[in-house]
Amino acid sequence: MSTIVALSTPPGRSAIAVVRLTGSDSLSLIGNLIPETPLALPSRQPTVKTIQDPETGEVIDRAVVTYMQAPNSFTGEDVIEISCHGSPVVVRRIIDFTLKSGARMAGPGEFTLRALANGKLDLSQAEAIRDLIDAQTEAAARQAVRQLNGELSLSLQPMKHALIEVIVRLESAVEFVEDDLPAVQSEQVASRLREIISDLVSLASTYDAGHWLRDGISITIAGRPNVGKSSVFNGLLKRERAIVTEIPGTTRDTLTETINIGGLPVLLTDTAGIRGTPDAVESLGIDRAQRAIADADLVMYVIDGTVELDDEDTRLLSQAGDSRYLVVANKCDLPSFKPDCEKLGLLEAECISISALRGDGMDQLCESIVGQFAGAREGSDAFLVTDARHFDLLNKSCEQVESALQLIEDRASEELILVGLHNALALLGSITVETTSEDILSGIFATFCIGK
Ligand code: GDP
Repeated sequence: MSTIVALSTPPGRSAIAVVRLTGSDSLSLIGNLIPETPLALPSRQPTVKTIQDPETGEVIDRAVVTYMQAPNSFTGEDVIEISCHGSPVVVRRIIDFTLKSGARMAGPGEFTLRALANGKLDLSQAEAIRDLIDAQTEAAARQAVRQLNGELSLSLQPMKHALIEVIVRLESAVEFVEDDLPAVQSEQVASRLREIISDLVSLASTYDAGHWLRDGISITIAGRPNVGKSSVFNGLLKRERAIVTEIPGTTRDTLTETINIGGLPVLLTDTAGIRGTPDAVESLGIDRAQRAIADADLVMYVIDGTVELDDEDTRLLSQAGDSRYLVVANKCDLPSFKPDCEKLGLLEAECISISALRGDGMDQLCESIVGQFAGAREGSDAFLVTDARHFDLLNKSCEQVESALQLIEDRASEELILVGLHNALALLGSITVETTSEDILSGIFATFCIGK
């Protein structure tokens, strides 16, 4: 397999940059850059070396070079890490020389792909490395580390064993029993399958919380013009991101920012105030607002607590559909503040009173947001399924077991029942990967960063 090279630290100027090589030629390639014969690079011992231009002998840098001999390395191959000074010129020269000597630039996630190919990790662990690098909160990072430690593979083990046990039982019935499985045995198999289904459902049900932790919770701030949506947006962001004016219709596009509310990653979106308008640009903004409302995990519906609400407000709130929503009554600093929550079918206590201008009630608003996603908060102590691919495979596997169960209840032949059970097992297998095709792998690794 070719030897690949990449800058593993972010591009740009820094104190130190790490250039990494993996492949059987790593050691000889680096040997070209270090004027030493024989080259003394004991495995797993960082050593300071002079790096020089192999053609002119010009010194490029002094760097800490670490050699990790196969198979005791991240990728399972010979790996070299060069911790040089973080100058883009130095980095470029080192990488250029390795390329001239026969290395090739690594693609996204290619180091991890090699670790997978050499049995150093399973696929769910490789994905956990990507998630750990991308994690936006401590809770998301903690979940990624748990997955990296093999917790997902571990939680799947009992279900896989149970499926294999049922498959073996049915296969031997096909081999050795002339008639169908006796009713008693058939009921035992059915009850085992019911247990497997319940385990699969309970693991898959952690995805809601897991996906919120990993991808962030999308919260859309909606309401009529001038109620203070942009002020609430800025207040939660703690900076003046959106323009606030007394002129209705100022926010014309949706604005999204990522923030951390009580340890939860939140994608907060400010939207154009919804009203009938002849202005073409504002209308486009309103269309986007409506889409953002439909896609939100939580709609924060802001009302002006000093004005009477009308049927339009009730209609707008109903657009939240089945989504969670919070009604936020703004401008509680004004003497005429008397929020018309009844109009929205809510008690006053069910609306959160705030003053985005003065900051009153903002802590309570954050608490209410966190309260809506208690599952993600509490769930952060348990292992959660965070990846849509894993969730999808769990569901598909569960469907296969459910149809196998139905076939047992319909007294279908063992051969037919076995097809679904084999499928279910293969689907679980492709979460951790023993059986995923090249196409799926390249799709997954395209989401990695270069140098990982
Ligand atoms: P949006 O159109 O809904 O985004 O509303 P803005 O955030 O642009 O605010 C509209 C007007 O209401 C501006 O003049 C703000 O200064 C004012 N405003 C916003 N929040 C408050 C508040 O809590 N108290 C008072 N008194 N005025 C506010």
